[in-house]
Amino acid sequence: GATIGILGGGQLGRMLSVAAARLGYKTHIFEPGAAPPAAEVAHRLTTAAYDDVAALTAFADSVDVITYEFENIPTEALDLLEALRPIRPGRRALAISQDRIAEKDFLTGLGLSVAPYARVTTRADLDVALANIGTPAILKTTRLGYDGKGQARIMEAGDAAEALEAMNGAEAVLEGFIDFSHEVSVIAARGLDGSVAAYDPGENVHHAGILHSTTVPAKLSPNQRSDAVLIAARILNALDYVGVLGVELFVTPKGLIVNEIAPRVHNSGHWTQNGCAVDQFEQHIRAVAGLPLGDGSRFADVTMENLIGDDIARIPALLAERNTALHMYGKPEARRGRKMGHVNRITRGIA
Ligand code: ATP
Ligand code: MG
Ligand code: MG
Repeated sequence: GATIGILGGGQLGRMLSVAAARLGYKTHIFEPGAAPPAAEVAHRLTTAAYDDVAALTAFADSVDVITYEFENIPTEALDLLEALRPIRPGRRALAISQDRIAEKDFLTGLGLSVAPYARVTTRADLDVALANIGTPAILKTTRLGYDGKGQARIMEAGDAAEALEAMNGAEAVLEGFIDFSHEVSVIAARGLDGSVAAYDPGENVHHAGILHSTTVPAKLSPNQRSDAVLIAARILNALDYVGVLGVELFVTPKGLIVNEIAPRVHNSGHWTQNGCAVDQFEQHIRAVAGLPLGDGSRFADVTMENLIGDDIARIPALLAERNTALHMYGKPEARRGRKMGHVNRITRGIA
């Protein structure tokens, strides 16, 4: 059978490998870090750095198509891989999601709403940006941030110096603070043939910048629900995208505002494992392998809860709950802030 190459061996790569195996594909994971969560479920693992040309070339030669579980792959490595095998989703989706400013420029160009934003590298930039955008605001590194890392809140002008220091000299973007009622995300997919399928939007709760839980159905009016799905479809089509995409949205009285996009399976889509016949991982493998997509329909109301750090002490109690599925990532130690696994609680079945 065909082999799917996956860049990144974290929990997303692990769950993609499981889905690929179920569909009859082999996976080959490329991961710089030692003993990644995907190691024990992938068919093959290459542990090498992204500047190891021989390892990258051998990886590409061994697979039929390349996908990824995280967006911060170095450009040079992508250039090399792309010359050898198709990369799905494509380079433009990666370039845009690697850079918060390119992302906001792209979304604005599609006519979508984003937070007011301005590029900041110097103190003078920050003062101008704060004068235009006002407070409260959030300063974020344009690249490499995740789980709320690389961000500083600016509640009043006096916080500016400390916030800029927290960027450690990296280029940043100042974002106006959106007074949202809640956050939702859409997980949607586009196939090789251009067909689009979306899952029902989930409602997300963050604790300390890290996703805590996702619940379907989200609190959305029928109009908001279709807006959310249309936003995702517009992004997918504009990028000629192949694969699963996550779109994070703020819900406000003035409409939906796009926070960020992720060109991959997404933590807020984990509920699909126990709420849909075809979950986001199978959907992504179907898309990159050129198979028809599942339709995205849902047979249950579900709440996904992340198990972070010491939360693993609750596993015995969680295992005793009715209609609750445990998904663990096989990580050796429960460090603070580390995502160890998640549970999906089915709160209601839908006939
Ligand atoms: P992820 O792990 O989702 O990639 P990230 O580090 O890229 O996270 P963001 O999604 O930009 O971070 O922000 C994390 C959370 O912080 C958001 O989900 C939201 O709760 C809050 N937040 C971010 N930007 C804004 C904003 N402009 N206005 C209000 N809240 C915000
Ligand atoms: Mg992010
Ligand atoms: Mg986010």
